[in-house]
Amino acid sequence: MTRQRAADPIGFGSGISTDHKDGIRWVDYTNISWNPVFCKRCDICVDICPKSTLVLRNDAIIEEENCILCGLCERYCPDLAIEMLPEAVAAHAAQGESAAEATAEPS
Ligand code: SF4
Ligand code: SF4
Repeated sequence: MTRQRAADPIGFGSGISTDHKDGIRWVDYTNISWNPVFCKRCDICVDICPKSTLVLRNDAIIEEENCILCGLCERYCPDLAIEMLPEAVAAHAAQGESAAEATAEPS
C-alpha cells in the first residue's frame, strides 16, 4: 500500500495514492479518489452530486463535506476519473449494518 494521507495543497482532506491498477497518480479525498490526468473538467460530477459536495476549484475537482457515498459521480463521469474509496464504502456499509441491528425487532 503506497497511499499517503497528508495535508495537500489540492484540497480538503486529500492525499496522493499510487496504488491504483493504472499506476497513475490519484488524489484521495475522504470518500472518493480523483484522477487529474483522466479528468477533462467537464463539471458533470459537480452538477450531478445531490449534496453539492464536489467543486471545481483551481483546475481540480475537490470533495468537500457532506458526501453521502451515493456513487453518482463515479457512475456518471465519462472519463472514469472518479472512484469511490473502498475503505470509505466498507465503513459506510458497516455503519448501515450496525444501525439496522440497533433498530431490529427482537425475535
Ligand atoms: S465528471 Fe469526470 S471528467 Fe468530468 S469533471 Fe468530473 S471527474 Fe472530471
Ligand atoms: S458519492 Fe454522491 S454525494 Fe459523494 S461526491 Fe459523489 S455524487 Fe456527491
